[in-house]
Amino acid sequence: MNLIIGILAFGYLASSLLSWLNVGYLRANINSALPESIASQFDQQKKKQILDYTGAKTRLGYWSESLSTAVVITLFAAGIVPQITLWADGLKIAPLLQGLAVMLVLLLIGYLSGIPASLYSDFNLEKRYGFSTITAGTWLGDQMKSLLISGILMGLLFSGFYLFINWLGNWWWLAAWGLVVIFSLLMIFIAPVLLMPLFNKFVPLEDEELKNKILDMAKKADFPLAGVFQMDASKRSTHDNAFFTGMGQTRRIVFYDTMVRNYSHQELLSVMGHEIGHWKKKHVFRLILTVSVFSGILLFLASRMLIHPWIYNAIGLGDLFGQIGFSGAMVGVALYVAAILFEPLNLLLSPFMNWLSRRYEYQSDAYSLSINPSAADMKGALIKLSQKNLSNLFPHPLYVVFHYSHPPLLARLKAIDDRK
Ligand SMILES: [Zn+2]
Repeated sequence: MNLIIGILAFGYLASSLLSWLNVGYLRANINSALPESIASQFDQQKKKQILDYTGAKTRLGYWSESLSTAVVITLFAAGIVPQITLWADGLKIAPLLQGLAVMLVLLLIGYLSGIPASLYSDFNLEKRYGFSTITAGTWLGDQMKSLLISGILMGLLFSGFYLFINWLGNWWWLAAWGLVVIFSLLMIFIAPVLLMPLFNKFVPLEDEELKNKILDMAKKADFPLAGVFQMDASKRSTHDNAFFTGMGQTRRIVFYDTMVRNYSHQELLSVMGHEIGHWKKKHVFRLILTVSVFSGILLFLASRMLIHPWIYNAIGLGDLFGQIGFSGAMVGVALYVAAILFEPLNLLLSPFMNWLSRRYEYQSDAYSLSINPSAADMKGALIKLSQKNLSNLFPHPLYVVFHYSHPPLLARLKAIDDRK
């Protein structure tokens, strides 16, 4: 019991400390001189907005993490987890379904504990800063759809794991690993055509002139593009973004509609060049490969961990384990516990993954400049993106290490200048 509470508390304290450092660093640096090229876009008023917005988001983060950590600790400390497991074990259904029931109930509790923060963010914080445009109907629809989708996906994964555990004994992790890798590859194909359209409308880019410029550029860069789309992101928020998604027939570039309206053609082309860079340099594939290696290691560790009775004693499930053994319901709770115990490992992995991702961002910027050599347009797009999204200009270096998949604006601009 103490083990799991200790791990949860450690994760909570480490992440809160990091956020606290981050806001303090911004406050201390906000008035330091900015490079001349961007000073005019970030006046006193803008800087104050950035400080307020970052502070407000950080405070919300404290609250929501406190709540979700407290809920999980209560689940264990008050003996609710064993009760749920016993309840599922008593259900007159197949053992696989008993395990599924435990897993879904525990995940549902976790989901519910995140609702207050989500509501506050979408209907208060993000509205105050003029970002959120979401209606209650859209919000509710989003929740229902994502609950359903993640329920189905988790259910499929869990069923696979459960069957492998029964069929293969200690070697289940190897088959589970294969399943996870196939699953994530499949998602790249499926997400843009099956999942994303459930949340947004995708239409071919309306601006014909821009579309032709983009197709022209893709052709020159020898980038097989199945389509250029714009997405009605503005029905939720005015934050800007663009991304590249899919493979083969589903490969596409998607711009948020808010972005198409507010950026010049040249700026959008440099963003497009950046996205082509990710593909040219096989970044998506490499990231999936890296994540796959890590998930293999984690699954192996989980498989070793779950066969030792002491682990069940350490998390307060010893009596229960003696009572029902490694039954369907027990597999459900064991996988849930493994996921929680590995949280701190994720914290240790994230610096590496983020470092890799930031490296790829620099590489893609460089690629974009090589086919579309206007540093001014590229910088213009990046500055506008940061300015409109009220991005933190001075994140704490340690916070960047743990949380930034993209380089902070000033570092990114500097890299573009240093290149010449
Ligand atoms: Zn990128």
